[in-house]
Amino acid sequence: MTGGSAALRIAARLPDTEAEGPYLRYALWLQGCSLACPGCCNPEMLSPHGGTLVGVEALLREIREAPGIEGVTLLGGEPFEQAGPLALLAGGVRRAGLGVMAFSGYTLHELRARPGAAALLAEVDLLVDGRYRAAERSSRRRFVGSANQRLHFLTDRYRALDDGAGGIGAGEGPVEVRIRGGALFVSGAPDAGLLAALRAGRREPDGDARGAGPPLTPT
Ligand code: SF4
Repeated sequence: MTGGSAALRIAARLPDTEAEGPYLRYALWLQGCSLACPGCCNPEMLSPHGGTLVGVEALLREIREAPGIEGVTLLGGEPFEQAGPLALLAGGVRRAGLGVMAFSGYTLHELRARPGAAALLAEVDLLVDGRYRAAERSSRRRFVGSANQRLHFLTDRYRALDDGAGGIGAGEGPVEVRIRGGALFVSGAPDAGLLAALRAGRREPDGDARGAGPPLTPT
């Protein structure tokens, strides 16, 4: 099935990042999340009315043209709150020979009971699940924000990366800082001190401190 006229409400996208999963990836931040975890790192992505509507077919073209990527990472926001059109996108990604990694604030158990989630789950190779809990924030595992979150190898694609300790490598993952259109765009999981410094360092002419793009892997 193709994306047809289906569209996704997205907050941001990067065609080339090593900070949101293994290898070089295209990262897609979905707009909207109803879970409202205290300490959510991307509060500007919670409203279901923000972001930009982009057609699935247009996104697929962009992904296919992204040079050198191994796969796509879906994060946000909450990817599974747009599961229908996102399943179409993820299916197209996998038919192009690319891998799919997804971060969800819902646990796998919750997703298996969630109406409409099955089609997207069927297209995900690697899932990081569970709410972000600020009190359990940890940089022990690469790409994973809090200790309660779990990795699920839903296919064999990334299974060789399983380090046997609940992750795909120990220690902090890379942090990338870019300037896009005059704004800072931060991906990966900077520690709180670095993030605060980045936010403080970016002041708009009217004096308002603004967010620094997608600052953390939030879910
Ligand atoms: S941390 Fe993730 S799951 Fe929690 S509110 Fe933020 S985007 Fe949603």
